[in-house]
Amino acid sequence: MDVTSPHHYVPPRSTIMHQIEPDHTLAFARLDALAIYRRLVAHFGLLCGPEAASPWWPIISANPQLEMVIGAVLVQQTRWEMVEDAIARLHAAGLIDLAELAQADAEHLATLIYPCAFYRQKAQGLIALAQAIQQRYGDLAAMFRLPTTVLRAELLQLPRIGPETADVVMLYAGQHPVFVVDAYTRRIFARLVPDRLSWERASYMQVQQVIAAGLPADPLLMADFHAQLNELAVRYCLVRPRCDGPPSRRVYSRQPGRNSFLDRHDGCPLRSICAWYRASRG
Ligand code: SF4
Repeated sequence: MDVTSPHHYVPPRSTIMHQIEPDHTLAFARLDALAIYRRLVAHFGLLCGPEAASPWWPIISANPQLEMVIGAVLVQQTRWEMVEDAIARLHAAGLIDLAELAQADAEHLATLIYPCAFYRQKAQGLIALAQAIQQRYGDLAAMFRLPTTVLRAELLQLPRIGPETADVVMLYAGQHPVFVVDAYTRRIFARLVPDRLSWERASYMQVQQVIAAGLPADPLLMADFHAQLNELAVRYCLVRPRCDGPPSRRVYSRQPGRNSFLDRHDGCPLRSICAWYRASRG
């Protein structure tokens, strides 16, 4: 199946993306989120924004905001490759459209998004979500014009939207500067700076505040940082870490060019600042 298309979402250019230089002065076990980000970019290259070699979040429809909202719901407890396939089927069925989605038949929608986890509940949730957005705001653009704190509170009242999904939607579809916390984030920071926080048990907001405190309120940087951490988690910082490489070569997206950096064999770019790595090597 071909999921490529000329409709690639290009977020606005970020000023800070032009200032990315590897930081070689980062002290061990100090949480300097911006320096961590710089090291990741030096390794993987930019993954989001107009200068990314291949967009980390591939968009196939002419409605990128809605496509991202749908993707953020479908990816809950589901591998991204399945989400890409489901999005392609929804696109072919003309359902990446708020009005069409709001009137969709739940059974039909469920067959299109199968085998995503909880596909029946997600089908009903997506329809209810589209209806709620239409009734409350008219369209997504109006919803995303709400102030960040108001928008977050509103999103959390909508079907199938929890804290992580709300932040993904706000950041990637709405370009609000929020840092997304997921299981990968907790795993990576628990290994990097274990003394800074009880990463696995801390609340979503605690983790978010500790990391975001060191970052500028730049939505493109936040979006790229989350993508970089995701890439680190699936290439090197797996449940069984591959600190010295080679990176995991599993295909996480069907988009051509998406895994172009896999030929690197220099290992995890965070080894010199990682407490877990240092402890494991004595
Ligand atoms: S050095 Fe190893 S444990 Fe530390 S962040 Fe990299 S892959 Fe994870």
